[in-house]
Amino acid sequence: MFSLRFATRLALAALFFATPAAAQSWPTTDWTIVREDGEPLTTDQQQGARFYRQQLEDASRWYQAAGFRAPRMIRENETSGPYVGYISTDTTSLGAVYRNERGEYSDAWLDWAIENIVDYFNPGQRFYLSGHRGAWTPTTKWETTMSYGPAHELFHAVQAAYGRPSGAPSGSMCTSLGGQPGIGSTDWAWEGMASAVQIRYLERARGVTFEHPYKNPQFAAWTRYFDHPVHQPRHSKLPTNSTLSWYCGYGSWYFWYAMGDMLGDTPEEKIGFLQYVLSAPGDWSDYGIAKLDAGLRRAAQ
Ligand SMILES: [Zn+2]
Repeated sequence: MFSLRFATRLALAALFFATPAAAQSWPTTDWTIVREDGEPLTTDQQQGARFYRQQLEDASRWYQAAGFRAPRMIRENETSGPYVGYISTDTTSLGAVYRNERGEYSDAWLDWAIENIVDYFNPGQRFYLSGHRGAWTPTTKWETTMSYGPAHELFHAVQAAYGRPSGAPSGSMCTSLGGQPGIGSTDWAWEGMASAVQIRYLERARGVTFEHPYKNPQFAAWTRYFDHPVHQPRHSKLPTNSTLSWYCGYGSWYFWYAMGDMLGDTPEEKIGFLQYVLSAPGDWSDYGIAKLDAGLRRAAQ
């Protein structure tokens, strides 16, 4: 454990010294989109590639304008030039993934071990983009919301620039048991923030206002109930509405969205306050509550 923690501190020290340069330039304003399997893009996928590239470059400029640190993104094979996004060969999933999105280091030995085993067999930190054509030519409420998944994943890399919580995304984000201590316990904040930013980005890109999921909005949303602690989302009853998604860690987005309305006036301020939360002193133990409370106090000053 000692050597692991020491390695983590070394990584944090490196991040500290790297911060001034990283804050001055945003490296992810230039992207190129390819197929995961290396084959040429089909005509349809070329349309997807243009959509993804425009989104990632625009979202990068927007996050930069909101004052965030540059994302912590690790390149795979390329050492310069545009960042690379890979269109997945899976044409059924609408989700984008920044694999190993939380970085290389973890205070939790089990997560660290799993990440390193996965990296051994499948090295690199690829930014996967959905291969489902609904992600770039959405025809349903849910596809429209999910088409902004790349902006969500990019924000995870921004979060990581401030230091990440230990633990991996967990299926306990929303179960009948609720969020559990340990692995996944910070998902209400980590995923909730990224989903709030994704929805703010959708509003920006489409010139609309997103409405609450129970208000029959024009877009689908993740939902949760608040008759459980905010940091322990869980089902109160089984899903009954197929236009909603019940991943409650994501469903905590409206906590962070509402905070943005309270703390900011401009669209940039309504996401920019999160930098105070992410950079607040303290760690992510105890679901990150003390750290995030301190950050929200700072954002309000
Ligand atoms: Zn996420």
